[in-house]
Amino acid sequence: MIKVANLQKSYGDFQALRGISFEVPRGQIVGFLGPNGAGKTTTMKILTCFMSPTAGSVTVDGHDVYDNPVEVRKKIGYLPESTPLYSDMIVYDYLQYVAEMREIPKSRRHDRIATITRQCGATKFIGQEIGTLSKGQKQRVGLAQAMIHEPQILILDEPTSGLDPNQIVEIRTLIKEVGKNHTIILSTHNLPEVLQTCDRLLIIHQGNIVADGTPAELEASAAREARVLLQVAQPENSPMDQDAARHRLSRITHVHSVAVAPGAGKSIRFEIQSDIGTDVRPDIFNLAVDEGWTVVELRRDSLDLEGIFRKLTQAV
Ligand code: ATP
Repeated sequence: MIKVANLQKSYGDFQALRGISFEVPRGQIVGFLGPNGAGKTTTMKILTCFMSPTAGSVTVDGHDVYDNPVEVRKKIGYLPESTPLYSDMIVYDYLQYVAEMREIPKSRRHDRIATITRQCGATKFIGQEIGTLSKGQKQRVGLAQAMIHEPQILILDEPTSGLDPNQIVEIRTLIKEVGKNHTIILSTHNLPEVLQTCDRLLIIHQGNIVADGTPAELEASAAREARVLLQVAQPENSPMDQDAARHRLSRITHVHSVAVAPGAGKSIRFEIQSDIGTDVRPDIFNLAVDEGWTVVELRRDSLDLEGIFRKLTQAV
């Protein structure tokens, strides 16, 4: 449904997007995740025809955003990061105005506004001035304007930013509901948001896609990199021969690297990497018993999604 190929965008000398590629099939809710300045908004603006790329292409249902923006705009609803709502307008009048812009026939506008405000939970304040609405209510109006022309795709730029915890839950629930019959790309730097709302994660960092998969797939790939951490207390009067200990650990079958680091207090910490899919903890335990080491800690250290995100998006 959406095909992004080698998309690049430069602002002057600065390359904000460095050739990103991904595809989104119909009906998927994709979380576009990245730290501040990663390139999320830039990508969304190109997808929604608000900005042209420097190189590469984006097609929506086969229509190129550059060559055929009119067709693309019909298929896409966009909720920008700061929704341009006119604060002195009544919600109903504003949606009438958007419906007119979207060329919905006059005879259908009233019914369409009634349907979409019901769907977005905005009926209660349809007669209220936009400037008097809470942030959560404004976001509902923003979603209603994005969906008024019945697009198949919704692009939502940080839809819960600035909302209080209750409003966040309400808007996430609404997005999940809407996602049952729409394709959605939503940008965020909030990991729980993605886990609770999305089928798939795309992690972007410094203009590159650095991860792409379901939350379970990303967690599984991190688990394959699992390390074992061993912390051994040093006897008071006879310090441990760290090199010898490291050598013995590295001779355990499947172990391919052992790093030594200071542990808590006087203890020593070994970070042991082994072949994918192996568990070397029993052998480490047996070695520690044979050597008379006082083991303070022996555990597997696998990354959770928070760890994966941090690892992939640390500034270089
Ligand atoms: P945030 O989470 O903070 O909204 P983002 O991932 O949406 O960040 P973008 O807004 O796409 O990031 O910005 C990507 C990079 O491009 C940033 O370094 C930003 O400063 C830069 N940038 C964006 N717009 C412009 C512009 N009009 N002129 C120059 N640089 C820009």
